[in-house]
Amino acid sequence: MHVIPRILSKMAFPTLCALFLLSLTRISVCTSEGWILHVTDFHWDRTYTNRDLSCNGLVNTHGLYGDYWCDSPFSLIDVTIKAMKNATQGKDVDFMLWTGDSVLHTADENLSIDNNVGILTNLTNQLQQTFPTMDVYATYGNHDYYPNNQYPPHNNEIYNRTLEHWRNWINDSAQETNFLKGAYYTVKTKYGLRILALNTNLYYTSDKVTANMSDPADQFVWMESVLKQSRRNHEMVLVTGHVPPGVAAEGGKTWFYQHFNTRMVHILQQYSDVIIGLHFGHEHADTFRIFYGHSGQPEMALYIAPSVTPWRYKTSSATGPKHNPSFRLIKYDRTTGRHLDLVQYYMDLPESNKQNRPIWAIAYTATTDMGIPDLSPRSMDNFATRTKNPNGPEFQNHLKWRNANAEVMPCDALCHSLIYCNYMKLHEHEYKTCLRDTQQYTASILGKRK
Ligand SMILES: [Zn+2]
Ligand SMILES: [Zn+2]
Repeated sequence: MHVIPRILSKMAFPTLCALFLLSLTRISVCTSEGWILHVTDFHWDRTYTNRDLSCNGLVNTHGLYGDYWCDSPFSLIDVTIKAMKNATQGKDVDFMLWTGDSVLHTADENLSIDNNVGILTNLTNQLQQTFPTMDVYATYGNHDYYPNNQYPPHNNEIYNRTLEHWRNWINDSAQETNFLKGAYYTVKTKYGLRILALNTNLYYTSDKVTANMSDPADQFVWMESVLKQSRRNHEMVLVTGHVPPGVAAEGGKTWFYQHFNTRMVHILQQYSDVIIGLHFGHEHADTFRIFYGHSGQPEMALYIAPSVTPWRYKTSSATGPKHNPSFRLIKYDRTTGRHLDLVQYYMDLPESNKQNRPIWAIAYTATTDMGIPDLSPRSMDNFATRTKNPNGPEFQNHLKWRNANAEVMPCDALCHSLIYCNYMKLHEHEYKTCLRDTQQYTASILGKRK
């Protein structure tokens, strides 16, 4: 249902640049490319050096900057924010996306509203002090609520207290009402891009409060009205939030309750002509998903940024992968909103602990290191298609950087299929079909190598 042809609507994006063009003054502003800074999943463990509540009792010697079994100590938070600042030097960074999960992984008995709000407040202050003039669009993660995950479909103390600290960033009294109701809001950036900041934790299968609802906090109705208005106003929209729609590569289930996933994907697909990108966190892994149109053409890409926390999960039946701390910069065209490049940064945690200094580096630049000419849905689809070969450089590169080079896990036919299908299939039924088809193919390729 594209009322405005896709190309036309993207050309019509009204920006300051276009206004300058019309006035024929300061045309130099008009070639503009800007940058977006994205950080997610700090998971700050303030008890790291004493009770180490996030570490599952697995650590004896606590490294200065953290440990793969634990959430982030303050020393890691501190050097990450400084590294973010360094990375932005000399670049026109227009705004920051901060996609939640600031609170450590621990049982509810170790948490409280005061504890969680305290962590959010301290982190907000850290970011504001380091980036005093930067616009920041922040969203909650499932761990930021108390009790864990249980976001209610209405106003509560955590929203009220957070707004006191995020008010300057949201900077719109009408949107404060939305935030107080459901922790969602929309803001127009200074170059005309519209941010749609969602609270997708309301749809997460760990949230027992909203399970049987059709539209918790009326967020679906609201986001449709914002997208409709954006189409009318020829605005381009960037969607951001914490828990992404689509299927989790570990487990093959959607993160959302299925009825919520179906509705979210449907709404997004209806407005693929105005949505220029989607940015999420939660998975602690560097990955992406592609949304396809009715005739199979790639229409939107959703980018998932890896975490700051190095934490790996451990349950009685499974152990998660290690992660190196990460953040990213995304280059985009201010006029069209098109995403052009992605520079991923990471910290070598063991080496940093060994040398008592933070060792940050560029993990990769999408255009030059990954062979992705831009971040358009078509280019991401091309990349995803090339990862069908489990031995090819694209898939091997993905494996290396999926967890920010903390360790490259051996990846058999099932593992390869789980990841490959995860790029392309947003619903459980189609994901299962893809798994079956791809596994046979992958097994035959891996078999030939032997
Ligand atoms: Zn997280
Ligand atoms: Zn999360």
